[in-house]
Amino acid sequence: MHSQARSKKAVVVGAGPVGCLAAMMLAKRGWQVFLYEGREDLRQPSTKAAAQQRSINLAISHRGIAAIHAVSPEAAERFMQTVIPMKGRMIHHLDGRLDSQLYDRDGQCINSIDRALLNEGLLDEVSRSPNVRMFFRHKIRFIDFNRKVLTAEDLGHGQEHTVDFDFCVGADGSYSTVRRQMMKVVRMDYQQEYIKHEYVELKMPAGHDTPGRPTFQLDPNHLHIWPRRSYMLIALPNKDNTFTCTLFAPSVELDRLSPPEVFLPWFKSNFPDALKAIGEKNLIHDYTHNPRSPLICTKSNPYHYKDRGILLGDAAHSMVPFYGQGLNCGLEDVRVLKVLLDQEEVESNSPTGPDNLEDERLARALLRYSQERHQDLVAISDFAMNNYVEMRHLVTTPLYLFRKVLDGW
Ligand code: FAD
Repeated sequence: MHSQARSKKAVVVGAGPVGCLAAMMLAKRGWQVFLYEGREDLRQPSTKAAAQQRSINLAISHRGIAAIHAVSPEAAERFMQTVIPMKGRMIHHLDGRLDSQLYDRDGQCINSIDRALLNEGLLDEVSRSPNVRMFFRHKIRFIDFNRKVLTAEDLGHGQEHTVDFDFCVGADGSYSTVRRQMMKVVRMDYQQEYIKHEYVELKMPAGHDTPGRPTFQLDPNHLHIWPRRSYMLIALPNKDNTFTCTLFAPSVELDRLSPPEVFLPWFKSNFPDALKAIGEKNLIHDYTHNPRSPLICTKSNPYHYKDRGILLGDAAHSMVPFYGQGLNCGLEDVRVLKVLLDQEEVESNSPTGPDNLEDERLARALLRYSQERHQDLVAISDFAMNNYVEMRHLVTTPLYLFRKVLDGW
């Protein structure tokens, strides 16, 4: 354990996956961590029922797993027990043909993981840390970075508390309050774009074999894609033999398809094999009950303020999900910050020191973080945007397949 910051207090805003990993990392370095989350504790039975209505799964890759491993190797191993490896994508052509495209010649995979399980698992990991205090149903409303105080609203009791801090981590997602508050003191470049597409989640139930045991209706070791030019359907496997399908389409198209009597024949003509596996009743239920959600891309620069504030994860960079890297990059943010904090400690040659030395070290690490991380984050965000065209169309074109053969795939 690093001892230099033992008496110092870090406030982490947002107990999503990135906030939890950041809290674990800081606690291991000796910080007193206060973790604030606006929602209820996901692990409560009442919250679980609500969350299950929209349990999206995620593709977690080596990037994300390595980040968890850097903070807690045991936690990374535990999460790997819960994933389903996906070795490639399976293209579903309109005429029923299937095309398996492997991600890697040497067998590297991405992994399907239940979003709620991942978040709950990370909350469990954080709870084990004696120097972390967690506050659920507490929303951060206001932050004065110069005075190092913030206002937290206790939603349960309708009260506001003033909380002081030495270091504040904004891991509060795409619509980050911490980012908005930080912009008042930082000359931050900020860019936000809603793409013209939305997504709706649909559940593909488990099938059954002859003795009646549940089975997957599609190959579970692939990420399934139905590319249809301006829209697409994808499906990722879950441990209970179901698939979570996500339909991406332009908002205007979804407006036109709004009535179920229009949607059903459209879905049938575009995704006949998926409809067979989902079932008409389930499809209409999910389509009419599940929300249509927007897709936002945000970019910020810099990500920090002096020695006292930093944005991590979606709070700093929300990207469209077509590269499956949004969360992976958010977790990697924590790993990169950890490396820079370690380096500053080594370079200044002492793990402990007077307060002002620690503050200077932290300021240097945060500055380097903003400088060194920005280009990588912009690059991956742009890849994600470009990959939408690849996923919904290019993967089916002869030129793409030819190029893959030349690349030795
Ligand atoms: P969040 O998960 O958004 O967590 C932020 C937390 O902060 C929330 O719990 C929120 O309640 C809390 N909060 C917000 N404001 C406040 C406040 N003022 N006070 C207190 N608490 C607050 N990424 C991948 O890597 N792989 C994928 O396959 C993938 N698939 C995706 C599919 C879809 C359809 C979408 C939309 C995204 C996908 N992503 C994927 C991206 C991924 O979901 C996000 O990058 C990830 O959830 C970001 O995590 P986070 O912890 O930064 O933010």
